[in-house]
Amino acid sequence: MTMADNKKVLQSPASSGLAGVPAIAPAIQWVMALAVLSLALLLSAYGAQVWASEKPVISAARVAGDEDRTRIVFELNTQVTPVISALGTPDRLILDLPEVTFAFDKRAQNAEQGLVRDWRFGLFAVGKSRVVVDLAAPVRVDKTLFLPSIDDQPSRLVIDLVRASEEEFAEFVSETRSKRTASREAAAPNTDLMTAQRANSKPVIVLDPGHGGIDYGAIGVGGTLEKAIVLEFSKLLRDKLSEGGLYQIHLTRDDDTFIPLGERVQIGHDLAADLFISIHADSVVRGKKLARGATVYTLSDRASDDLAEELAASENMSDIIAGVELEEEPTEVTDILLDLARRETRSFSVYFAKTLIGELQSAVRLIRNPHRSAGFRVLKAHDVPSVLVELGYLSNAHDEKLLISEEWRERMADAMTEAVHSFFRPRLAGRDGAVSQ
Ligand code: ZN
Repeated sequence: MTMADNKKVLQSPASSGLAGVPAIAPAIQWVMALAVLSLALLLSAYGAQVWASEKPVISAARVAGDEDRTRIVFELNTQVTPVISALGTPDRLILDLPEVTFAFDKRAQNAEQGLVRDWRFGLFAVGKSRVVVDLAAPVRVDKTLFLPSIDDQPSRLVIDLVRASEEEFAEFVSETRSKRTASREAAAPNTDLMTAQRANSKPVIVLDPGHGGIDYGAIGVGGTLEKAIVLEFSKLLRDKLSEGGLYQIHLTRDDDTFIPLGERVQIGHDLAADLFISIHADSVVRGKKLARGATVYTLSDRASDDLAEELAASENMSDIIAGVELEEEPTEVTDILLDLARRETRSFSVYFAKTLIGELQSAVRLIRNPHRSAGFRVLKAHDVPSVLVELGYLSNAHDEKLLISEEWRERMADAMTEAVHSFFRPRLAGRDGAVSQ
């Protein structure tokens, strides 16, 4: 339960229940309000307890050893069994777990030790947590042990890695691949069911908060997490777009879950979306001081400039960070109809980008040349007009301040909503509840 939800629980019964009975003496009102309040607190505390008791808790994690032998240790309150797999280029070890709570500061964990170069923790999908270990050298898993709790020592999950040859590791990777392919085929979704009902033909808009779960995205100079800020902003934008009921709006994620890039594209395609807006607030290394202000990106084969190229490269790393096996890029199909569709989609994307910049210009600070382009994988649906909006850059302290300001977010979301209305105005014209002006 989030802070905002908590506030709602605490506020709504007290205000709606009492507003309608003005005759009651203030003292009784207070007693009733307190009763409602304590009930709400009790319920939320109970909820939190049940929630916490369901998921195993990992309270500490550490790495020890040298370049021949390295041990990974997790301290936890109950037994969990990891499914361990491997990925190449770059070499990684993936530990898949049931959903757990990582109850330690994940960012303060320095794992560089022996065979381990770095690691990440987080929610990977509903009910699944994941640890991705970047390897310093090829490894083999020597053994996995679970040591039950003794005295006041917590239980421990121990994974021992030993140095292996390139060939051994390559074999580990290919075993993993065949297992994954098999499970993917077994779980293949029924595409008929996935296809959206388009009966009422309201324009479909997909908002795509970047990153999530194990992929934190950028971390601001003041500690702001990109994955959190873009999710909050996307929800605000969804609420604003929902007013008036003109559109069907979907979020690719509405919680802290990781979604692979290909799946984001697929969501837009399956819903037959009319517009796909990916929301980010990245950090850029090159020209750290210069990169500031909102930017709208569209897809292009060649990057418009160095900043766009760097950004697309870092965005496209998302799946590698989360330990998702990259799907082979389909070879370019030379189908003339597909090519036409792709071209038409691109011109709609550019049209929306320009409309958006027109609106943003008078509302917020933009970067110089605010429309840029590069090979963003998340914008590759051939049939869905798609843009990627950088709200600002978390590498810039001024931008970070704006991104966390409620007033700024309101202004940004209002301007984006206006741009969406303009984009769909011709289509909505003449329909009931059409946007006026
Ligand atoms: Zn991003």
